[in-house]
Amino acid sequence: MKSIDVLLLLSFLFFSIAAVCYFRPSLRQSPSVSVSDSPTISDSPTDSDFSASHNPECRQEPSPATNLVPINRVVQPSLDFEAHADGLRKTYGNEFSVVVEKPFVVIGDQPQAEVEKWATGTIRWAVKQIKESYFEQDPDHIINIWLFKDSESYYRNAERLFGSKPTTPYGYYSPSDKALVMNISTGGGTLVHEIVHPFMAANFEACPSWFNEGLASLYEQSSEQNGKIVGLTNWRLRGLQLAIHDGLLGSFENMMSTTDREFYDGASTNYAQARYLCYWLQQQGKLREFYRRFSENAANDQSGIDTLKEILGTNDLKAFQAGWEKEVLKLRFP
Ligand SMILES: [Zn+2]
Repeated sequence: MKSIDVLLLLSFLFFSIAAVCYFRPSLRQSPSVSVSDSPTISDSPTDSDFSASHNPECRQEPSPATNLVPINRVVQPSLDFEAHADGLRKTYGNEFSVVVEKPFVVIGDQPQAEVEKWATGTIRWAVKQIKESYFEQDPDHIINIWLFKDSESYYRNAERLFGSKPTTPYGYYSPSDKALVMNISTGGGTLVHEIVHPFMAANFEACPSWFNEGLASLYEQSSEQNGKIVGLTNWRLRGLQLAIHDGLLGSFENMMSTTDREFYDGASTNYAQARYLCYWLQQQGKLREFYRRFSENAANDQSGIDTLKEILGTNDLKAFQAGWEKEVLKLRFP
């Protein structure tokens, strides 16, 4: 081989390695973003909305049966967000504003500036926060976040675009439509809640509904403390306290052992019980550790009961629940 060929070959190898080293992190990380203020995200359902807690307001559809490869082992393809957004603009440009906010594309029936505000505000903040606290992997496909400006638009467009009427007034995540569908007039809380679900699916595929909904609903009322997302007490507290007071709350073993269907169709307190277990773990500084151990050990502990016992350092969940119920009765909202 002539020396000029060797030089060319070496240059080629150098630039190939440099390119791989440079592009590799970008497969998994979004650029870091600083949020100057510390938003408090909340929904404030009215008393009449409270009755909606008897119906799961963000029931998640099962993943399509064709999705047999664990998502977190799929090498993420390079996703062309701009082309995807352009396609949406061509189809819906007269009606909707479209904003790329990775790993989402946000589509709203408000003016462009309003949709941008949601994208670079609540959505960017929530994504950054939950990725820093829990999730390494982005979803391996583009997910649309549809923001409808009011109840009328939400119900009409959800039915028109996705073929079925929402069962909740707030919003929901539909894995099969690759979409979060939101009535954004109800506030940003449900939006943060729903953003958790596609990240959970991408990072902890075997996650049972109780923890998926417990963690998601923890952050539907949230703020930032010392640079980290923190769930606050919210409207779900009242029903939980009533159930505890009346001796009607089931055991953690029962709630954590529910199948997806049993969780969604079961006790009206399931969401709140799961949420305030997550809240308690958060207040003890144990929630992130619980997530880490549970997601790593789910093959041996599908319900999370063993992991919870391990984290608590006790086998006696009955005694733990008695203490937890006392603490929950002391909580206040607002
Ligand atoms: Zn949910």
